[in-house]
Amino acid sequence: MDEKEIVICVPSAFTRDWLENKFNVTILNSIQKITGSIKRVKYVVQNTQKQSPKAIQSVINLKNKELKEKKSKIEEKEKTPSTNPHYQYAEPTIIPDRPSGTALLKDNYTFENFIVGSSNELAHAAAQSVANEPGTRYNPLFIYGGVGLGKTHLIQAIANSLNKKNKNILYVTSDVFISDLMNSLKNGRMEDFKARHRAVDLLIIDDIQFIGGKEATQYEVFNTFNDLYAHNKQIVFTSDRPPSAIKTLNDRLKSRFEGGMIVDVAIPEFETRVAILKSKCIQKSFHLDDAIIYVIAERIRSNVRELEGALNKIIGRVQLLGAKVTPELVDKLIEGGQIHSQRIVNSDMILDIVADHFHITKADILSKSRKKDIAIPRQIAMYLIREELKLTFPNIGELLGGKDHSTVMHAWNKVKKDIVNNYSLEQDITLIKNKLYNEENPVNS
Ligand code: ADP
Ligand code: MG
Repeated sequence: MDEKEIVICVPSAFTRDWLENKFNVTILNSIQKITGSIKRVKYVVQNTQKQSPKAIQSVINLKNKELKEKKSKIEEKEKTPSTNPHYQYAEPTIIPDRPSGTALLKDNYTFENFIVGSSNELAHAAAQSVANEPGTRYNPLFIYGGVGLGKTHLIQAIANSLNKKNKNILYVTSDVFISDLMNSLKNGRMEDFKARHRAVDLLIIDDIQFIGGKEATQYEVFNTFNDLYAHNKQIVFTSDRPPSAIKTLNDRLKSRFEGGMIVDVAIPEFETRVAILKSKCIQKSFHLDDAIIYVIAERIRSNVRELEGALNKIIGRVQLLGAKVTPELVDKLIEGGQIHSQRIVNSDMILDIVADHFHITKADILSKSRKKDIAIPRQIAMYLIREELKLTFPNIGELLGGKDHSTVMHAWNKVKKDIVNNYSLEQDITLIKNKLYNEENPVNS
């Protein structure tokens, strides 16, 4: 600070631009209230190595020998079974084939197709910055926010963009990461697992909140993180909540996540919802009157996925009925729940999705096996059928291969009680419900 000017050091050009463009007036006004002589605030990008918070610094220090020592210690620990009581079913044991790095990417999840509004502009800017200069400024990038608000779209846009530049990319959901890890541990293929996760320029783990409470997984995310970070490779996470709010996430991972850039996505405001609807119409080459678009945007506020679902249904109606579909009719249909409804689920779908989630078969669930790996998913299936479909206990018993109604009642009671204190169980159930009601998720039955 001198007579007329204050210089503020910031970690990146992105921060500089944000402060300059968005907050400069506020900052200057506040400073002038304290010392009127200051006429200007200057923002200077300062090497983060010198200025970084402790969390980042400690990662850098971990390089070299130290890192290797820590890694081998953690690997030792990993071989001994976890003492976490939920470990048994929190970590699936039978695993599908491992994914290829870009297999799960959707082509249309691009920056071009992403509508920016005040609810997501910071997340969007950070994602673009990462796509332009991976592994430099915002590492890791952590995007959080509610369901259907564009997290997956944004991070896949990063992946799609870097894929075009021939970068080596690994995009996984935390589900897939966990499955792959458990499989590799079981089959003695950890070297291969590590090599695959460390050979990338960009690692994305979508919905990281589900590693909460899963110890072995957290160790490996931590190891992978340190290795990639030390080599200036980009890491991106999404979650439904900020790191500090992920219960049973261990502190050192929390501090790694917090050492980078954390941004949120919120529910888009009306103008953005309109813009999204218009953009989706253009993508589908379908014209819809503005008046109808306004009704949809006004009525459906919760999230973009539902907005899109409603749009598709209304387009379907217009294709059938033409001009008979008026804004008033659309309003009535949404009001009456005919447009904006979730997928109708049945017990077969619940059994399929529970089996799939725990990497067992539907026959396992229907069997009499008392093995924990099977008995617990079975109890969860019983609980969900009761909660979601409101079937009677004897009825559910029948559906589950002729179990006694008291068995079902016991299972339902147990899960209902356990869910309160067992975060891992709660997460499993949330995830299963998401899969159940998400129309994009295929089910066999
Ligand atoms: P999340 O991962 O946060 O649950 P998704 O990224 O899966 O949400 O988004 C749900 C749907 O909404 C996707 O089809 C996505 O393309 C769309 N979407 C979300 N936000 C936007 C946006 N700002 N612009 C365009 N489409 C969006
Ligand atoms: Mg998502």
